[in-house]
Amino acid sequence: MVLERVGGPLRMVQRAAPEPEPGQLLVRVLACGVCRTDLHLLDGEVDIPHLPRVLGHQIVGEAPGGGLVGIPWLAWTCGECGYCTTGRENLCPRARFTGRDVDGGYAEWAVADERFCFPIPDGYPALQAAPLLCAGLIGHRAYRMCGDARRIGVFGFGSAGHVLCQVAQHEGREIHAFTRPGDDAAQAFALELGATSASGSDQAPPASLDAAIIFAPDGTLVPIALRAVVPGGTVVCGGIHMSDIPSFPYADLWQERTLRSVANLTRSDAEEFLALAPRVPVETSVHRYPLEAANDALADLRAGRFTGAAVVVPDHS
Ligand SMILES: [Zn+2]
Ligand SMILES: [Zn+2]
Repeated sequence: MVLERVGGPLRMVQRAAPEPEPGQLLVRVLACGVCRTDLHLLDGEVDIPHLPRVLGHQIVGEAPGGGLVGIPWLAWTCGECGYCTTGRENLCPRARFTGRDVDGGYAEWAVADERFCFPIPDGYPALQAAPLLCAGLIGHRAYRMCGDARRIGVFGFGSAGHVLCQVAQHEGREIHAFTRPGDDAAQAFALELGATSASGSDQAPPASLDAAIIFAPDGTLVPIALRAVVPGGTVVCGGIHMSDIPSFPYADLWQERTLRSVANLTRSDAEEFLALAPRVPVETSVHRYPLEAANDALADLRAGRFTGAAVVVPDHS
């Protein structure tokens, strides 16, 4: 399923399977998670240097020797810049990203640099593992930026929120979920997963938050989240794109509140999170779409028509 021009839709085309270069794996795709970043790419809010492009960066596939591997958003880094050499390859200015700079997983086959592929933990079927690869591990990076916060607000309770809620519970922390006002299904889903409270983002939290993570791509949530956190608290913006942040009084940031973003992932993030997930254990709630229905999956994500994560699955028969 190929993006040929900004605005889409994706189009089904027949291509020969990609040829792996030395150091690359040819992976038979079993499942690929759908991420909000795919919508930003489709809409042109995040630039794609070259079209056409196969989107999809939460790939689980069969490696040549058998066994499941995961291919995440980070596809390649230079290894020599000031960021790469100081444990911050997520900020490498020459980084390439799966489904943006190289073809991704909305396909039957994918190739990837083997140094950026990860074994899927035992016991996870491909379908359930796919959302771990971006929602899970970039969500976890955002969660780690909250430090030792005990009471964490999550604005936008989708794929990432439903994973980190389980990790937070496992660690004895409270999650307070904020959804689109009136999204009863998402609020019920958050409570089912153990969130301490769930309400619309137009409601005040039941208690002050130690930290907040914003996954919804809505800049108006930033001052709302800042006002909801205690002095010294942190607000983490977890998405790759957000609408503009409205101006807000300095008093909302005063008293050592921190506002920061989280960008991409490092390979050690992936190793850390994929080791943690089976210990929780994280169980993902997945909506399966056939690969050829990838446009429906994206439209349903945009409209908030499902809870949890969407995954596309190619038919190899
Ligand atoms: Zn993603
Ligand atoms: Zn670099």
